[in-house]
Amino acid sequence: MHANYIAGQWAEGPSQRSNINPSDTRDQIGRYAQADLNQVEQAIEAAHTGAPAWGLSSPQQRADVLDKIGSEILARKEEFGELLSREEGKTRPEGIGEFARAGAIFKFFAQEALRLRGDKLASVRPGLEVEVTREPIGVVGLITPWNFPAAIPAWKIAPALAYGNAVVFKPAELVPGSAWAISEIISRSGLPAGVFNLVMGPGSVVGQALLSDARIDGLSFTGSEGTGARIAQAAVQRGAKFQLEMGGKNPCVVLDDADLDTAVNCVVQSAFFSTGQRCTAASRIIVQKSIYAQFLERLAAATRSLRVGHALAADTQIGPVVDESQLAQDLHYIAMAKAEGARHICGGEQLKADTPGHFLSPALFADCDNRMQHCQEEIFGPVASVIPADNYEHALSLANDTPFGLSSGICTTSLKHATHFKRHAQAGMVMVNVPTAGVDYHVPFGGRKASSMGSREQGTYAAEFFTTVKTTYLQA
Ligand code: ADP
Repeated sequence: MHANYIAGQWAEGPSQRSNINPSDTRDQIGRYAQADLNQVEQAIEAAHTGAPAWGLSSPQQRADVLDKIGSEILARKEEFGELLSREEGKTRPEGIGEFARAGAIFKFFAQEALRLRGDKLASVRPGLEVEVTREPIGVVGLITPWNFPAAIPAWKIAPALAYGNAVVFKPAELVPGSAWAISEIISRSGLPAGVFNLVMGPGSVVGQALLSDARIDGLSFTGSEGTGARIAQAAVQRGAKFQLEMGGKNPCVVLDDADLDTAVNCVVQSAFFSTGQRCTAASRIIVQKSIYAQFLERLAAATRSLRVGHALAADTQIGPVVDESQLAQDLHYIAMAKAEGARHICGGEQLKADTPGHFLSPALFADCDNRMQHCQEEIFGPVASVIPADNYEHALSLANDTPFGLSSGICTTSLKHATHFKRHAQAGMVMVNVPTAGVDYHVPFGGRKASSMGSREQGTYAAEFFTTVKTTYLQA
């Protein structure tokens, strides 16, 4: 039984939930406490009480705590990576890689605690000094999704603590194991009681309770657009700070001067790795007509060769879909693509394996029109739609013709087109000759349009959300 962590104590919840392995639904990974409103109240109060002293703690103390957390995560990345693959379904190397990234994020923010800087300016009034400093915002509610069970919690928790905030952390229902493992390490890191709290449970109860509580000064959320909109509304109503990362419908453009091996590799990785369950995954593959047939043939061959199976099997490249309801969503969009007249090339079928799991072959469609509904809405599965483009300008306009703006990719050997695309892609992240997914941990992450609201996450830019600016005037 894995308990919640509140005010420096492990607290069993009034109910529990099993964590099920999507590669083998007979495998129950563990039982995890589900908080009720009473426990959420205790966690918020603990954070509220703990925040002022932590906010005034020395940066060295914060750096030491975060560095210790990061070191233990890194030392145990294989063990935790396997747990992550077991509960979420991405492959073992992806699971281990994600925990390595989580550890690196804690270590990065350990150092950031020491680098937080301000400005000192001359006043326009003689004899005055003006100082601009950053202070923690107070208590932050962190709400995370299931697709990156370790990295997303890390990239919210680490900067929150580094900049002196107290945390109430609400992980996704489907993946409490990785969240609990990170929280268990945090519980032994030397943080004062109440500075970090874990409350597991349903979004509609535990998550919802964080939105309206006046003691929570900021909400950092990654998840669906619908929940994001609720959070924005609740936060605006009571004047709380918020930061939202939501969906994507990311394009990958392939021009006729691209290195085709590079392009096929970029598209396959972007569209299908991690079972396409990444907000940065590419689902619209925009290909210049002059190489369309040739590229499609190579992409189809590469897609057909992908090995789908149990996330922990050594030869698996694509693990299962995370659960039944996501599988139903994927199948719904696959049927929609067919009904909309997209040409079905391969995949999109439920597969039987040695274990009962949610296995789906990567689906490839061609001759799609960007206006088709399945090309406009986020699917969040291993489904890619190839869209023909007349030339570079047409490809760029198709790439930008989406409500979203997270990651936008291009494969080209033309400096002119790469440079133009970097400037004109309407996205928070632009990828030239690299997959749309797969981002560094020390630089900002986030999007535009319907993909994101609020300031960027990760890197030094994380300070924008997790601190507030104070301008001080002083006359000696
Ligand atoms: P997904 O469809 O990917 O599960 P959600 O937006 O539903 O996306 O979930 C992302 C996170 O938001 C999860 O931790 C979930 O529990 C939480 N959540 C869901 N509904 C709410 C809500 N009404 N208020 C706060 N958090 C919520």
